[in-house]
Amino acid sequence: MTRMTALLERNEQFARTCTPAALGIPAQQVLIVTCLDHRVDPAILFGLRLGEAPVIRNAGGRVTEAAIEDIAYIGFLAEQLFGGQLEDDRLFEVAVVHHTQCGTGFLADPGFRHQAAETTGLAEAALEASAVADPHLTVKADVDRLLTAPMLSPKVSVSGHVYDVATGRVTTVVDARYP
Ligand SMILES: [Zn+2]
Repeated sequence: MTRMTALLERNEQFARTCTPAALGIPAQQVLIVTCLDHRVDPAILFGLRLGEAPVIRNAGGRVTEAAIEDIAYIGFLAEQLFGGQLEDDRLFEVAVVHHTQCGTGFLADPGFRHQAAETTGLAEAALEASAVADPHLTVKADVDRLLTAPMLSPKVSVSGHVYDVATGRVTTVVDARYP
């Protein structure tokens, strides 16, 4: 018995009717970077189906070094596999989606942050950098960070959005642009 039992039963239902998606160009040509928060599931917010969009999730949905490295690799892979099949020689759009009521917001408080660093061993500066207190501000900063990352392919565009947990609505804060 594991806490996964109920979920594995749901998976059994899923597998009975699953239509496998082939390794191909993601149908929406959008890669989503967002928070790992269980209320912010991009498949549900955006009605994504299998094979439509890759998703990178971390605390806050921040454009970390690790996220930039993943995006660089996916860009390389897309170019290798599908470079000749793409319109306009463009690869995909990265949509950075931050959200209201983010749990990383507590890290904006120095006392809370200090306690978190002491208890977990994480660096206080790293915790401060991951805080999303105002998603409108952090999403703009992260779009800029990605657009100026030397690893980013010039064929990848970047946009920024905020998801309001209270209303379910996603608002575009930064329109898509290329590096
Ligand atoms: Zn969050």
